[in-house]
Amino acid sequence: MSFFEDVHNLLNQDITAENESKEMTVLVRILSVIDAITALLYAVIFPHHSVYVLVFFPVIVLINIGVLIATYHLSSYVTTTMHCLVLACFTTVFCLWFDSRLGHEYAIFTLIPLVFYRVDFKRSLKVLIALLCCALSCFLSMATIWNGVEITLTRPVMLCATLFNSVSITLKLIIISVYYYRKFAAGESKIVAYSKKLEQLAGADALTGLSNRRSIEDHLNMMAEKYPTLNQAFSIAICDIDFFKIVNDTYGHDAGDYILTQLAEIFKSFMSGKGKAARWGGEEFLLVFDKLNGDDAFMELSRLRGQIEKTEFHYKSNTICITMTFGLEEYDFYAGIQDTIAHADEKLYQGKNQGRNCVIY
Ligand code: GH3
Ligand code: MG
Ligand code: MG
Repeated sequence: MSFFEDVHNLLNQDITAENESKEMTVLVRILSVIDAITALLYAVIFPHHSVYVLVFFPVIVLINIGVLIATYHLSSYVTTTMHCLVLACFTTVFCLWFDSRLGHEYAIFTLIPLVFYRVDFKRSLKVLIALLCCALSCFLSMATIWNGVEITLTRPVMLCATLFNSVSITLKLIIISVYYYRKFAAGESKIVAYSKKLEQLAGADALTGLSNRRSIEDHLNMMAEKYPTLNQAFSIAICDIDFFKIVNDTYGHDAGDYILTQLAEIFKSFMSGKGKAARWGGEEFLLVFDKLNGDDAFMELSRLRGQIEKTEFHYKSNTICITMTFGLEEYDFYAGIQDTIAHADEKLYQGKNQGRNCVIY
């Protein structure tokens, strides 16, 4: 395993607390590592003429490593607070010692997005942290202007320090933003997928999986709206199983349900590429031929009627055969959707009266 994979695994290691997500902790770990590296870089470039300076940066590196280690044992609430305190203390001492307008006090503003997006920090605490960041930053800016700093730096060291500070702040803000963006995007896509699923469920019949009445009515209304511009004929058929009550009475309601689901499969594959099938209610189905006029739909329905007549449904040890009667109507723009359906329904009952197992157009 490469060094980077080791680091990645170490940073992503799960936490001991069972009631917390590890992402927040991983974020604190990354920020602590960045702060430790920044302090290490300062330790290298800063003048070592004072013993305090010699000790200060290594201590900050060690404290940040301490916070990192603490993230494996303590809650992210505690370690985030520790991170905030360490950064505030480091920034204060750093500014008062060295910062002759290097802008190091702005590092503490990275704490604001870090705590503001957290749901487990109270609003009052967030406001308090924001106010403290602002007060500390003002104080440090003014103090360094008013009193100057204890240790003056050479120009190259100041340039390097400014660079490290800017890069560190930018990197931390990017990481915090990416972290929260990912969380937000993951939540968003989950909601979109869930609402699509709900929409699908709301439009589907529970037994057969076909579109339900509401869903097919929406589809038909949409087709009717498009009709004046497309001027494309389409046809609607309503069909009903013949003597289905006898099937239920003879073989049981479960056998009846089984036939309804198998019939739905026949409708799905028969209507594929031609239009839509829906369960209109009970043992009645509605078929929409998206691009066929009445004559062409009649030919298709005659084929379908023959196919159903020939199909044997095997349920448990029984072989069951059924027939269906169809009423067909081409969409009439002047009558509208509801009347076109009503005309198809009238033809269905005409078919029932004429002896069933037929298509009436
Ligand atoms: P017809 O040829 O005149 O249509 O005769 P039929 O027996 O099919 O008509 P009827 O309206 O008298 O009965 C329809 C039957 O369909 C009654 C009802 O129990 C059955 N049915 C309706 N929905 C379901 C269902 O979801 N599952 C089952 N198993 N049966 C159903
Ligand atoms: Mg029936
Ligand atoms: Mg019926």
